[in-house]
Amino acid sequence: MTKKGILTVISGFSGAGKGTVVKKLTDDYGYKVSVSATTRQPREGEKDGREYFFITKEEFESRIQAQGFLEYAGYVDNYYGTPAEYVDKELSKGHDVILEIEVCGGLQVKEKRPDAVMIFLVPPSADELKKRLISRGTEDTETIEKRLARAYEETEFIGKYNYVVVNDTVDKCAANLNDIIQNEKKKLIHNNDDLDVIINDYKRFERRQ
Ligand code: 5GP
Repeated sequence: MTKKGILTVISGFSGAGKGTVVKKLTDDYGYKVSVSATTRQPREGEKDGREYFFITKEEFESRIQAQGFLEYAGYVDNYYGTPAEYVDKELSKGHDVILEIEVCGGLQVKEKRPDAVMIFLVPPSADELKKRLISRGTEDTETIEKRLARAYEETEFIGKYNYVVVNDTVDKCAANLNDIIQNEKKKLIHNNDDLDVIINDYKRFERRQ
C-alpha cells in the first residue's frame, strides 16, 4: 500500500518570496506543486500551464460551478484557484504536495483538509517587502500599493497558520520548511505506518465469546 503524501499550504504576502522558495522545494527536495488557474494576465516570461493556467473570467466561473476547485479566491482584481483533481491524484501516489496560495484560499483548505500543514511566510520586515515589490518591477505603482494594502489586511489571518517562517535567504528558508513539513508528516498516523497492519496484528487478542 502506498503511503499518502502530505499537503502543505504556503501563504505569505505578495513579495515575500514564496515563488522562489517553493521552486527550491520542488527542485531540491522533490515536492510537487499544484499549478493554479488564474484570470490575471501572464507576466513577462510566464508560460501557460507552468506558472499558471491562464483562463478567462467566464471559464473560471464555470469551473467554480462545476466544483472544479479545491479552493479559490479573488485577489487584487483577479480570481485564483487550485484545481481539485491534481492534488488528490498526487497525494494518493504518495507525493508531498505544496499549494502556494493566499490566505482566503488557505483557510478554505484548512477547513476541508485539517491534516494540511499551514505555513505563513514573511519577509524580514515591512520595508523589505516594499523594496522587493518595487525591485521586482513586474507591477505598476497602483498595483504595488494595492498589494501592500492587501498585505496589511492579511496580517489578520496569520494567527490561523501553524507556522510563521521568516524568509531571509532562500536556501535557509527552504531547508527550514522541509524540516517542518517532514516532522509534521511523521505525526500523521496514515503516513507513519499502515494502520491496517497494526490493527490486524492485535486482532489475535480479540476475546472470543
Ligand atoms: P501573483 O499574481 O503574484 O502570481 O499571485 C497573487 C497571490 O495569489 C499570491 O499570494 C499567490 O500565492 C496567490 N495564489 C496563487 N495561486 C492561487 C490559488 O490557486 N488560490 C489562491 N487562493 N491563491 C493563489
